[in-house]
Amino acid sequence: MRKACVIGWPIKHSRSPLIHGFWLKKYAITGSYEKRAVEPGDLESFLETLEIKGFSGCNVTIPHKEMVFNKVIVTDEVTRGIGAVNTVFVSEGKTYGLNTDGYGFLASLKESTTWQSENKTVSIIGAGGAARAIIATLIKDGIKAIYLFNRTMAKAQILAKEFGSVVKAKPLEKLEEFLDQTDLLINTTSLGMVGQPPLEISLQNLPSDSCVADIVYDPLETNLLKQAKANANRTVDGLGMLLHQAVPGFEKWFGIRPEVTKELRDLVVADLLKDKPE
Ligand code: NAP
Repeated sequence: MRKACVIGWPIKHSRSPLIHGFWLKKYAITGSYEKRAVEPGDLESFLETLEIKGFSGCNVTIPHKEMVFNKVIVTDEVTRGIGAVNTVFVSEGKTYGLNTDGYGFLASLKESTTWQSENKTVSIIGAGGAARAIIATLIKDGIKAIYLFNRTMAKAQILAKEFGSVVKAKPLEKLEEFLDQTDLLINTTSLGMVGQPPLEISLQNLPSDSCVADIVYDPLETNLLKQAKANANRTVDGLGMLLHQAVPGFEKWFGIRPEVTKELRDLVVADLLKDKPE
């Protein structure tokens, strides 16, 4: 029996068990996927004993992604550029790490639109961990230019310096001035998420054939996406990224590349709506 888990601190709200549990059942695999609360002080020993505990690997969430990056073998160029790991797998006694967040974003974008990165310009709001994963992935995919807007300009400048001349840091206040040259607008901040302030932006300057993606998935349709739909833009919600980022890990641990289906999406949507007032 193969086993995997998700580690974090706290871990209560992770939806990974729901996703992997769905696939285990669908593909009739005798295996398990569980939540493990791991305190930062216990992280190193947890990783060292992963295989002894019977795990084929694990997902990694807040606050461990950067720490795990420094403790595992990273062979993938995109993951090295991101500097954080969300997927760990054991192979021939060695522990490897991958970051699949950017992969998940791009897979979701390509599933929902006809997106090709070549010769395209992207505007990204936010310069945190998720933005870093998306930037590294879009660069690998051949993007022409990325404008990076962040409340704390210094953080955007650090990323621009790290990723080179494709990425240009800009103050958040200037975003609307760049929309007329934007093929894809992505919100990677927590703005617009339930319990967080809204993302206040006018899409008036955005061409109607551009795409708008929000990586926030609660609510599923953020105000940004509502506005984009009203502007006739194609939209991509954050749930697709969450589902697709789980695919490579499941394949490594359980040996089958799983499919992201409407049935799985509906299951997670129902879970998101579960505790909401009518
Ligand atoms: P992070 O590293 O903490 O970065 C947060 C970003 O949001 C920073 O750029 C921060 O700006 C900005 N921000 C936060 N509050 C803000 C405010 N009030 N005004 C302006 N900017 C604000 O977080 P992360 O890991 O990148 O995650 C960001 C969001 O993406 C979260 O909501 C997370 O749930 C979501 N996410 C979704 C998926 C998915 O699969 N769909 C995957 C990963 C993350 P400063 O630098 O100025 O602080």
